[in-house]
Amino acid sequence: MSHPAIDYPAFGPEIQCPHCHRTIPALFLTDTYLCPRHGAFQVSPTGELIHVPSGRCWHQWEGTWYRQHIHIDGLRFEIGEALDQLHRQGRRATQITIALRYQGLFEGGPGRELSVPKRLYPLGQKLFGIPLVFSPAPDVAPRWTSVNFEFTTVADTTAQLSYPGFRIR
Ligand SMILES: [Zn+2]
Repeated sequence: MSHPAIDYPAFGPEIQCPHCHRTIPALFLTDTYLCPRHGAFQVSPTGELIHVPSGRCWHQWEGTWYRQHIHIDGLRFEIGEALDQLHRQGRRATQITIALRYQGLFEGGPGRELSVPKRLYPLGQKLFGIPLVFSPAPDVAPRWTSVNFEFTTVADTTAQLSYPGFRIR
């Protein structure tokens, strides 16, 4: 037997499609995985997974794919969906931590040099009414190379009331 690492793309003989989560096979001797519904995914030289038809990009961290956003709208949409899910679990976010690499999107331009730690906390920024902070740098906390955001949550004591969702605050 030859070495699987050589015969298959970087993530092994099969992965879960980042879109539909079905197990999809690698094409032997290529850097490509093929989903019958979503088409080809290619492993980039830097270890990202690229959806060939759309150019969308994912990073993997501990077995989970994290879509990498280039527009703030995509990131906001993902956070909005996650907040909805959180609400259905009877919890409420008190803070959103967003990966430092997205800071430029929030400032409407390329991120400025972070000279002092205070710069990690933009003045009073909120998203969906929830206070927003940026993550530590990935060299301090490596998961922030891939992860997009995390919530700090509490049990939602107002869940009994007709709480119409995160947009109220
Ligand atoms: Zn798929």
